[in-house]
Amino acid sequence: MSRHNPKAIPRRALRLLISAFCVIATFTVNLADGDDPPAPRMQLVTFTDVKSVSRTIESRVLLEAQDGGLLLEGRDGRLWNVTPKQLQKREATEDPFQPVSAEQFGEQLVREVAEFGIKTPTQVVVTRHFVVCSTAGRVYAEWCGSLFERLHDAFQSYWKDAGLELREPEFPLGAVVLKDRTEYAEFATKHDRADAAQAPGYFSEPTNRIILFDLTAGPNSTPVKTAGDVRRKLEASSFNVATMVHEATHQLAFNCGLHTRYTDNPRWLTEGMAMFFEVPDLDSRTGWKTIGRVNAPRLKDFRETVRGPREFLPLTDLIQSDMSFLNANQARAAYSESWALTFFLLKTRRDDAVGYLKSIQRKPRLIADSPDDRLREFQSTFGEIDTLERDWKKWIGRQGK
Ligand SMILES: [Zn+2]
Repeated sequence: MSRHNPKAIPRRALRLLISAFCVIATFTVNLADGDDPPAPRMQLVTFTDVKSVSRTIESRVLLEAQDGGLLLEGRDGRLWNVTPKQLQKREATEDPFQPVSAEQFGEQLVREVAEFGIKTPTQVVVTRHFVVCSTAGRVYAEWCGSLFERLHDAFQSYWKDAGLELREPEFPLGAVVLKDRTEYAEFATKHDRADAAQAPGYFSEPTNRIILFDLTAGPNSTPVKTAGDVRRKLEASSFNVATMVHEATHQLAFNCGLHTRYTDNPRWLTEGMAMFFEVPDLDSRTGWKTIGRVNAPRLKDFRETVRGPREFLPLTDLIQSDMSFLNANQARAAYSESWALTFFLLKTRRDDAVGYLKSIQRKPRLIADSPDDRLREFQSTFGEIDTLERDWKKWIGRQGK
């Protein structure tokens, strides 16, 4: 594993779609054994952010660079990179670091939505783990909250069965649900940046939130009045619900300890996990029966990739680099192959997959691996890549028949 590979950082910056991350190219990390136990005390840090706004953040310091740069985690779970140039003041307090309460976090999200110029009244729905801040009405926000809670329980129990004990989320999990695509694009552009608005929803790794919009909203649609209305409308478009579940899975994966934010998570792995869980189960109130079943739309995509005309990405390329996800001609193949690979590994090599996940989650933050490191690490768990690729294609070929 190469600890200092500045060349690989921009790749990651692209992957996250977040401009703030670009400053890390100049960040020299000083880590003892790659471990990052959070500072137990709250620190008050004042700095100018990338938009030249001065901020004072109650935070804990996750990393401290030799040159004085900091990686901070705010009480809302948001990560901040602060370069020595941006840093104005740093004060240690005697108070222990404590995550924000769900109520305070809800108020913060309402303020942010208003500050971004969105005039529609907001409503906040607090569930056990989530804070849904929405301009789409209470019924829709409640429906989202209960979908996410069901997913949380199913996600936890899947990994428990697999022998991987996850933790409960430390921070309240924020979901901003806008009333339509226009508001969503406005919010996403200001919250992250313009290209974030192109997706049908996303998980923001730096801010730790999911940003979505009301999928039942159409040009002539009336607001939903009951959860049954939401369900009837969404059943007609299961792909849209899959988007919500996909993004919420990313959020859970990073908050329950399956992945660690700002480590070099191979993209095939994070996307593969989100697609493994994304098939919605709208029928049951408590369970989530679709986990572990074939994801039919992804399998169809995979078959089309294998047969052409789409270009099939060799497994080595998918593991060594995340670039195919950013290339419009290759992204669809990259997603479908990542689903197929994750599905294959979890169904046929689950213990190895869990071991591999553990090794990735323990990686130091802000250090990118080289392509060779990635391949070596993958092969040390799953064996020689050509043999695996052959077995994988053969096995997937028998699925869904
Ligand atoms: Zn994703």
